Amino acid sequence: MKKYNFNAGPSILPREVIEATAQACLDFNGSGLSLMEISHRAKDFQPVVDEAVALFKELLNIPEGYSVLFLGGGASLEFCMVPYNFLEKKAAYLNTGVWATKAEKEAKLFGEVVEVASSKDKNFTYIPKNFEIPTDADYLHVTTNNTIYGTELLKDIDSPIPLIADMSSDIFSRPIDVSKYALIYGGAQKNLSMAGVTFVIVKEDALGKVSRQIPTMLDYRTHVKKGSMFNTPPVVPIYSALMNLRYVKAHGGVEAMEKLAKERAEILYAEIDRNKLFVGTAEEDSRSRMNITFVLKPEYQELQDEFLAFSTSKGMVGVKGHRDVGGFRASCYNAMSVEGVKALVACMQEFEKAH
Ligand SMILES: *Cc1c(COP(=O)(O)O)cnc(C)c1O
Repeated sequence: MKKYNFNAGPSILPREVIEATAQACLDFNGSGLSLMEISHRAKDFQPVVDEAVALFKELLNIPEGYSVLFLGGGASLEFCMVPYNFLEKKAAYLNTGVWATKAEKEAKLFGEVVEVASSKDKNFTYIPKNFEIPTDADYLHVTTNNTIYGTELLKDIDSPIPLIADMSSDIFSRPIDVSKYALIYGGAQKNLSMAGVTFVIVKEDALGKVSRQIPTMLDYRTHVKKGSMFNTPPVVPIYSALMNLRYVKAHGGVEAMEKLAKERAEILYAEIDRNKLFVGTAEEDSRSRMNITFVLKPEYQELQDEFLAFSTSKGMVGVKGHRDVGGFRASCYNAMSVEGVKALVACMQEFEKAH
């Protein structure tokens, strides 16, 4: 039976990306050696990093003056690297969920933190609007896609202070105006690659503005200067990122990815809104295209386990919702086909008929 992978992360990747990475692990570039056993400084590997950086710049239309970095530590390490490198006195955070809260917590170790707005009052089911950005803060931090709650900030906001974004789960799903950001980061394991590498897009002249000493590994300038080769980078995840970037380019770039994301989301949200058993959890104008969250209506709550078992029997993988929201979550990253979403919809319809 065909399986449809709706996991939130690590998550679905195009089959050809997985196959090309597996092949390179067996024999890298016909060298007779595995990608796992060559030096990251080998002359064959440098082109992998160079091409990955070039494709980032091309696909996201990154202006001059920005560096693309591949680091370790996950998005979670960025939660502390961001304030380490940018927070002199005060930082502003938009609180849209657990990840945003974790980022905020780290910033508090370095200075004053102002929460410009929070959607905690309604369990993060919406993206706050019309909040004021303090012009005396060093930066504003936002989480563009809230993987757990299924909400997404689909607009590159105008900020009078440097804008920093966690784009772990929606990078490469739409065109972005990188010039509006001082820094963008994310763990690769949602929509870019396998786990193990973190991407950072940083405006070079936004760095070096804090007076504190920064440990070498945590200083973005180290990695800018050394082209992500200060120490051994995660070579296999970088290689799989490159394969996926090539895939995105070959399939029409981020514009095409956005079109597909819209199509998938429209199909699935339409069914959630139509089906008598289910209801979406996110407010309509905050709905995420990447993580689509829904629950059973109160009168059908007892069907929770039954629907999970039924959908699993039909080949759906990973549709169980996060414990903070309950119900179901269908993560629809770039590699998810429209066919996969239609299969889930068919499953929901068959289940509805049976009840
Ligand atoms: C998954 C996720 C993280 C955490 O990423 P790690 O790489 O595991 O540290 C942070 N932010 C968002 C939005 C996420 O989806």
